[in-house]
Amino acid sequence: MHQFRSKSSWLDEETNFQGMTVTDHNPLVHIGVLALQGDFQEHVAMLRVAGAEVSEVRTLSQLSSVDGLVIPGGESTTIARLLVAFGLMEPLRERIESGLPVWGTCAGAILLASDVPGLDRPPLGCVAMTIERNAFGTQVDSFETELAIAGLEEVFHAVFIRAPAIKDVGKGVEVLARLENDQIVAIRDGSLLATCFHPEITEDPRLHELFISIVRDAVSQGQANKSHLLESQFVTGSGDNRD
Ligand code: GLN
Repeated sequence: MHQFRSKSSWLDEETNFQGMTVTDHNPLVHIGVLALQGDFQEHVAMLRVAGAEVSEVRTLSQLSSVDGLVIPGGESTTIARLLVAFGLMEPLRERIESGLPVWGTCAGAILLASDVPGLDRPPLGCVAMTIERNAFGTQVDSFETELAIAGLEEVFHAVFIRAPAIKDVGKGVEVLARLENDQIVAIRDGSLLATCFHPEITEDPRLHELFISIVRDAVSQGQANKSHLLESQFVTGSGDNRD
């Protein structure tokens, strides 16, 4: 079982889970972690251990250089305000709409949702779902539980801190995990992932590895599309330089 323990104890021990190596089929992807507020450092550390190149994102140019983005837990109202203040809200929404893989954990999941009763400003709204903030109560009602997650062979030790719950999902949104009382706590919508708990403060890298593989697929898909486009231009001679 994966216990909830401090990062420093395991970061020094291991540098590469599952002996992951970088090859043509397993390219190094560059993942950003939105670093305006919340527990972004824990995600940075976990993603590095899980085999990605990682950087903190606070500016537009940092946002434009990443292949995928994690929005961490924290305070969704604060992160939403800072996204606007740092001029990132619209550019991020646009990048997500054009296919940027994003994983929102807890407050990050709230920001991805299309419907958030009680949020004092509009969220990014990129996943068709209704999410309820603080659905389990206050800080003292935080809890940990073993969660069955679709696609993972063994249960995941999930830590819920002032967590939201997903009340409803739209068409095409895949439910990955529910609590015993049936509340939805993890979903996937194409290359968008949302979890109501905090994998980054456990020692279990499986969801970080899942996100890295989603980003890797999106990158190779994008490269395939680009080379397909170039190829068809070459074959049909439909470029601007025709004579
Ligand atoms: N309750 C917080 C919010 O509504 C989320 C808490 C968390 O990210 N752990 O934004």
